[in-house]
Amino acid sequence: MTSRNQQLFEQSQKLIPGGVNSPVRAFRSVGGTPIFFKKGMGSRLWDADGKEYIDYINSWGPMILGHAHPEVVAAVQQAAANSLSFGAPTGLELEMAELLNKLVPSMEQVRLVSSGTEATMSAIRVARGFTKRNKIIKFEGCYHGHADALLVKAGSGLLTFGEPSSAGVPAEVAAHTLTLDYNNSQMLKDTFASIGDEIACVILEPVVGNMNLIVPHQEFLQTLRSLCTQHGTVLIFDEVMTGFRVALGGAQALYGITPDMTTLGKVIGGGLPVGAFGGRKDIMGVLAPLGAVYQAGTLSGNPVAVSAGLTTLKLVQAPDFYEKLTAQTTKLMDGLKGAAHKSGIAFNAQSVGGMFGLYFSQNSPTSYAEMMQTDKTAFNSFFHSMLNSGIYLGPSAFEAGFVSAAHTDADIAETVAAAEKAFAAL
Ligand code: PMP
Repeated sequence: MTSRNQQLFEQSQKLIPGGVNSPVRAFRSVGGTPIFFKKGMGSRLWDADGKEYIDYINSWGPMILGHAHPEVVAAVQQAAANSLSFGAPTGLELEMAELLNKLVPSMEQVRLVSSGTEATMSAIRVARGFTKRNKIIKFEGCYHGHADALLVKAGSGLLTFGEPSSAGVPAEVAAHTLTLDYNNSQMLKDTFASIGDEIACVILEPVVGNMNLIVPHQEFLQTLRSLCTQHGTVLIFDEVMTGFRVALGGAQALYGITPDMTTLGKVIGGGLPVGAFGGRKDIMGVLAPLGAVYQAGTLSGNPVAVSAGLTTLKLVQAPDFYEKLTAQTTKLMDGLKGAAHKSGIAFNAQSVGGMFGLYFSQNSPTSYAEMMQTDKTAFNSFFHSMLNSGIYLGPSAFEAGFVSAAHTDADIAETVAAAEKAFAAL
């Protein structure tokens, strides 16, 4: 008998390319039929066939309080009753800007947008407008949304300017994007020594969550900060994923490095579409209507989305919120490593705050090249065993996972028990 899930996927593929509105949802990497959901509550999800899951994707990060948190739902209902949108300023936007500035002080000025992609795309335009330079640096394996200039695959080495990694991106657009190796300070120094004064900005994920999880070397971040300062290059921390996820002040608070600009998304919308970019006041001053860099949005600062975000940000400021989230995530990692050990599987796991990485390899990777060496086939079988047992992990060996404040000890125990079975079956 065909399940409701399968029916939905078959019908969706006729009208929606690949049946999905964002590619990773299609399960291409792991194979099989994607899960269509109809309800979530706390740490749990229910699919179209009524099967229950413990959720470790959490909408790829935003649902840090779990699904359908009653206070967030109430805030959304209240805001909606006062109009869904004005396209004009509101006091809520000011409240959000004040809160972001208080919790992430490097964001001296902030502008709200509706997605992480818009935030990074706009931050780069601002950095280019401010420095009057064109070249940008990103790192291999870091994802910053789908703006043209950021969809660039790795150059094969130092000073190899990028080729687009997506069709539809003109080579001329990608030609200004230089891709270097994450955690490689020497490569960074060599690049700045030769063309440092031509680089508008460096953008990075200060903890990488888009090639599975990679932890930054402190020395790499320090080198980056001092080179950018020396050369008048704008340092952009893309904290769309790490913001309010690894610590209250984001990765910049955790590692003690102050970027010139920061991009945010995910958690700051509590599950509704909100992004933000901000930073030094002199840099943000180039934006229209004050300056010559144009950026805009009909639904930017949308009152319903901002209300969901404000309530979420209020709740994550509870005492010990991040200590508890970190402890719970660590407990999950320890449980999974213990389970793998019992079956003698080469497996590793690590976490930063409420985000985690699972690796089918002896050690935790520190670069894209090392990540590519991990055993993808083992991950795919593990993924499907876990899914069968009602544990919903990211459907790719190259995605980070997320724990929410709603995950209980019982959830972790159930997950570890499922993992023991999954590892034993490998
Ligand atoms: N930057 C980072 C670090 C991200 O993880 C993402 C999304 N996963 C984006 C930017 C793009 O955000 P969005 O999907 O909201 O456009």
